[in-house]
Amino acid sequence: MAHPTGPSTRDGAAPALRGNDSRNRDSASWIARDAAAVWHPFTQHATWTDDEPTVVDRAEGPWLIDVDGRRYLDGVSSLWTTTLGHGHPDINAAITAQLARLDHSTFLGTTHTPGIELSETLVALAPTGDGPALTKAFYAGDGSSAVEAALKIAYQYSTQTGHARPKFVRLDQAYHGDTLGAVAVGGHDLFHQAYKPLLLDTIGVATPGSRDRGPGERLAFAADELRAAMSESGDQVCAIIVEPMIQGAAGMLDYDASYLRLARELADAHGALLVFDEVATGFGRTGSMWAADHAGVVPDLLTCGKGITGGYLPLSAVLAAEHVYEAFLTRPGDRTPRTFFHGHTYTANPLCCAAALANLRVMAEQDVIGQAARLGERLGKLLEPVGEKEGVVEVRRLGTMIGVEMAAMGERTGFEVCRAARERGVWLRPLGHTVILMPPLILGEDETDLLVNALEAAIDEVTER
Ligand SMILES: *Cc1c(COP(=O)(O)O)cnc(C)c1O
Repeated sequence: MAHPTGPSTRDGAAPALRGNDSRNRDSASWIARDAAAVWHPFTQHATWTDDEPTVVDRAEGPWLIDVDGRRYLDGVSSLWTTTLGHGHPDINAAITAQLARLDHSTFLGTTHTPGIELSETLVALAPTGDGPALTKAFYAGDGSSAVEAALKIAYQYSTQTGHARPKFVRLDQAYHGDTLGAVAVGGHDLFHQAYKPLLLDTIGVATPGSRDRGPGERLAFAADELRAAMSESGDQVCAIIVEPMIQGAAGMLDYDASYLRLARELADAHGALLVFDEVATGFGRTGSMWAADHAGVVPDLLTCGKGITGGYLPLSAVLAAEHVYEAFLTRPGDRTPRTFFHGHTYTANPLCCAAALANLRVMAEQDVIGQAARLGERLGKLLEPVGEKEGVVEVRRLGTMIGVEMAAMGERTGFEVCRAARERGVWLRPLGHTVILMPPLILGEDETDLLVNALEAAIDEVTER
């Protein structure tokens, strides 16, 4: 490329020229090049450049810095991944040390020390309570691919322990990722409809997080639907899959822990596996290590990703119970091997494992989970007046996972609020009409104040318009 680090104006003539009217010059040129060559995820490119996307150049702690030198608080942890902030010296050092030693070697047929150590760490950190101990770690690259692996494990488990059970029970409004299996067990109408003929056989049931019913009714309604689905088709169901405690991508729909205890009971009663998708909720986001900890329920399979490497490199995992793992051991007399026929080229990449180990070490040494719990409580207090504001329907929160649902005041109310917050130095990304706050777990007090103040002012600006 002719411009490996940016347009030539950036380090040359730019400083002398840069005044208020040249504020956007580097961004504008990069955005034009982006529009010419890039296809972005979940993005409508007919209007992409109208929204003047932020061109991120650097990051430090909870701050993103764009190519024009503007700073934005990273209010959604770079899509729910950053735990300790950007550029953390320990994670950076762990990645570079690993790089000097071993960049990559396959996990198919060989093994390596960071992969072994990370597995030991994850198994030691796994949730405890009502359910089996999670004793094995299987790796994938993204949250979706961990979910994909979990679905295949659950189905194959059924074929190797009794009879084939081709159905999955899924919740309305669920989100488990974008690969086909993950879309099949999702419950977002728009995504489901778009690919419907391609999807697996699933049974959709009401979510206990639904806001269509009052707080006193939604749990009982969802519980009844789950009971009915399992008594009708339980022997065809290989797994019940849920996002425990809170449906993140649905707009942070939190729900009662007792639903998870019921799901555990029903899965056991009907011989199905219980899968918790903790891709969003794992590693301290909810104020405890796992969302499962709030209920004291342990699933048979737990998927995790996003925050595992602190937000530095793509890695995800499925934690599996011993009884599931054992069902994949070939026995004397088996005509076909019970192997799990699944894996990716970069499964358990050593750099990713090293980043995860450093992240989890710092989290343990500095009680980052405790910090996250306190940050969540403080945010909850600061957001109380926001919940009373005109134009705000509801503020929902579990730990540092927060959704501020706006009344629909146009097609893109959530986006408008985020855009107004960006003008005030805070970067946010909405889900429909819900503005999401999900800051790095180590956010300081001043930054927390900035986050909430910018949100309040942005809401006021959009409601007054
Ligand atoms: C984000 C998310 C996924 C998908 O993870 P990717 O890394 O984007 O593939 C799956 N499940 C849940 C609950 C998520 O929030």
